[in-house]
Amino acid sequence: MAATPSESDQGDRHDPFDAPRQHMLDACFLGPYAQNDTLLEKLVVEFLRDHVYWRRNFHPEDPLAISTTAALHPDYLAFEAKTRRELHLLSAALKKSVPFHSPRYIGHMASDLLLPGLAAQILTLPYNPNNVTEDTAPVTVDLEVKVGLQLARMLGYANDPSRPDCAFGHLTSGGTVANYQALRLALAQKAFPVALRAAGIGDLGLPEDDWAAFNLHPREATALVDRWGRWLAQASHSDRRRWQARVEGERLEQRGLVDFFAVHPTLKVPKVLAPVTAHYSWSKGCKLLGLGRGQLERLTERGMRIDPEAMEATLERCLRERQPVLMAVAVLGTTEYGTVDPIDAVVAARERFAARGLGYAVHVDAAWGGYLATLFRNEDGSLRPRDEIARDFESFPSPGVHAAIAALGETDSVTVDPHKLGYLPYGAGAFVCRDHRTTALLTEAADYVFHGEAAPDYMTRYRRLGQLIPEGSKSGAAAAAVYVTHRVLPLDQAHFGRLPAQTVRAAEHFRARAQRFARDNADVVHALMPFDPDSNLACLALNPAGNRSVAVANAFVRRLHDELRIDPRHPVQDKQFFASATTLKPEALGEEGLRRIFATLGLDSATLDEDNDKLVLLRHTLMNPYLIDHENGISYIDLYFDHLALRVRALLAGTS
Ligand SMILES: *Cc1c(COP(=O)(O)O)cnc(C)c1O
Repeated sequence: MAATPSESDQGDRHDPFDAPRQHMLDACFLGPYAQNDTLLEKLVVEFLRDHVYWRRNFHPEDPLAISTTAALHPDYLAFEAKTRRELHLLSAALKKSVPFHSPRYIGHMASDLLLPGLAAQILTLPYNPNNVTEDTAPVTVDLEVKVGLQLARMLGYANDPSRPDCAFGHLTSGGTVANYQALRLALAQKAFPVALRAAGIGDLGLPEDDWAAFNLHPREATALVDRWGRWLAQASHSDRRRWQARVEGERLEQRGLVDFFAVHPTLKVPKVLAPVTAHYSWSKGCKLLGLGRGQLERLTERGMRIDPEAMEATLERCLRERQPVLMAVAVLGTTEYGTVDPIDAVVAARERFAARGLGYAVHVDAAWGGYLATLFRNEDGSLRPRDEIARDFESFPSPGVHAAIAALGETDSVTVDPHKLGYLPYGAGAFVCRDHRTTALLTEAADYVFHGEAAPDYMTRYRRLGQLIPEGSKSGAAAAAVYVTHRVLPLDQAHFGRLPAQTVRAAEHFRARAQRFARDNADVVHALMPFDPDSNLACLALNPAGNRSVAVANAFVRRLHDELRIDPRHPVQDKQFFASATTLKPEALGEEGLRRIFATLGLDSATLDEDNDKLVLLRHTLMNPYLIDHENGISYIDLYFDHLALRVRALLAGTS
């Protein structure tokens, strides 16, 4: 879509109040004016009392350790006064916080918090469970494993723990660590068959050489780990210990990268393929794993989405050069533009190349967009057809987005951030893998023998989470918050899905309004949304009319953004609206896209230079549930564009 003045008058016809009001959503959040304060207060007090009773009923025969008159002692009073003073200072300082709850905040990926999750988090905090193991969190570890299953269902993975190939997921501090966990698991899985060969195990049906062993399709690698577990299970006790030690000694996790590749000289350190728009956590992950940032190869894009042809060419080159690939990353909801990669094409390419001897994992970074999948799920877990979903929207979902979501079940692992579109408190990220059987490769003391009568059931097996996650101690309260939220709002279109539906509609309204803004202000500024967003992040490019220089346009947008950002020197109340900024990388657009955008903006691409090699954009996260206020008939998106028009005109007239 190019919002040129000559285009459709969609912006005039669009009515954001068309969609029926969702009364259920009124109870979901504390709200912009904190109107549900009584509800939250009742819940917090009720369950704090409950916690108090719990303490009092634990060995009520124990005498009071704190005397009933303790509160009269001067030291007690002094301590209380000091605590109170510091809390007041903190509370006062926090008034400078970012008003994420307000529909005037359309900056970064944060918004109001879902009440059930917030209440569950507060309720659980005084119990302070540590999800490192069941010994310190007998209740919340189970909830965390169940959250993994809830998310697996949303993504289209098998979520029945009685199935051998059931998915598994766990929480992390955020998407960054979840992405790191994906890299760790993929590397363990890739290198393990090589270790089995090196250990000289005979009858497991091992690949004929190191290259083949290092390039198994992840499904085959999983099957091999499974066979190895069965083989061990039937071996005698002493054989089992001997063989297990031998294999452990050959594993990459034991040898380290240097030694492993020295022992297997026909293999090279594998590459990670990720799109130009991939989050910087991928670079961090490659460094952390010791692969080096140099192994992260950026895939060329077209319209901010992976270009399947370019990916194909990269894979051909890898195959030709015998350059192994660890993983291909597809992004569901890019951090900066909300675009969705063709996950279906990424999966299809993997099938073709694995068949030709270049096997690797496919991971979807859905830290941002993961919860959009709720829109695509029926209550029974089945996928909704595109035309049915499309009835509720103007153009969402595009066939590409629908195909991408439909292909999620074929991928190997996914990152989802409950603390983003799950509207939950930080830090709640999640890692989910399609088939749980390879998680033994991540544990400190690998135990592959999960067969036979002594095999622990699924839930029991994962009660020692600390064994396989990157972290150690971890908040059980976060797990409780995510679990309760998913119970109150199941992850399907009839429940949780109403939230993303609302934000996608807001994004469609934003697009219509952007078109009208471009038309109404064409005398002073060229404006456009550079490409159709697939979800609810919307970028806006602006260039003062008559200007051809990228440097001038960038300086102009930066000035606008300075007004729209948090400035710790001024009270937040002074601000009318909040937006964020990002840059448009020419290499993420493709030639054609670049030409189109520069032409519409009236910019000369020859003015791109070292200092201004990218175009600065305003970026808007449209996740606030109250952007369209049905109660009062107010659209904060309209108000934002009115505000923007005023500011653009004032800045250009030099009367700011
Ligand atoms: C936010 C984000 C991350 C990082 O997640 P954190 O929770 O901030 O660690 C990774 N990938 C994508 C696509 C993201 O949007």
